[in-house]
Amino acid sequence: MNSVSNLAEDLADTTRAHATAASTSSTTRPGRAVRLLLLAPPGAGKGTQGERLASLYGARHIAAGDLLRAEAQAGGPLGREIAACQDRGDLVPDQIVLDVLIPAVVDAAAHGGYILDGFPRNLPQAHAAAELAARLGVTLQAAVYLHAPDEVLTRRLLDRANQGGRTDDTADVIRHRLELYAQTTGPLVPYYSQRGILVSVNADQPPDAVTADIQAKLSRLSPPNP
Ligand code: AMP
Repeated sequence: MNSVSNLAEDLADTTRAHATAASTSSTTRPGRAVRLLLLAPPGAGKGTQGERLASLYGARHIAAGDLLRAEAQAGGPLGREIAACQDRGDLVPDQIVLDVLIPAVVDAAAHGGYILDGFPRNLPQAHAAAELAARLGVTLQAAVYLHAPDEVLTRRLLDRANQGGRTDDTADVIRHRLELYAQTTGPLVPYYSQRGILVSVNADQPPDAVTADIQAKLSRLSPPNP
């Protein structure tokens, strides 16, 4: 039994079901909607930039970590499984992530577009996202890659912890999240670069400067241009 291809088939089934349900409910023309994703290690500021870009471009900010945290707080066996993964700094299983995120993505695609923050986080999720976009008849316009040195990221996350931040902002879990990012999410940088939609931005600068750099680089992309 090949578990990788089974997972790919499960993910494809999930995206097919949601995309079919959505195909009758589109209220905006897909060509006018903004569809970006933020690819960034923990602490790079993707939440902050995601909110800003969403408001600048009239799109929805879909933060995978936030949606999963809300699901965790709702409790039950699924919530407990998600909370355990998040507390350890491990990735939540792909199928759960897709079940939680895809309805939000489908809805946003039909209502002004989306800024995806923290999804996809590995290659199977990237393939599922591409499959979903194809079934919705849309394409991803850009993958915005926010990068900063590990020391900067660690310092920011520890600062957030000192200000009463999240349960996964402890020194050990931060180290694990950064390692996991390098192993599993890092390969998405060449993946989107090969597809010609990677936009790299230095995240080791004040938030306003990061936003300005992202806007400047997006404005140089060939259409569709937000
Ligand atoms: P974030 O808020 O983006 O830092 O994500 C917090 C945590 O949520 C991560 O450490 C993972 O446990 C989980 N998570 C967020 N996005 C994903 C994803 N795309 N796939 C799997 N787990 C995720």
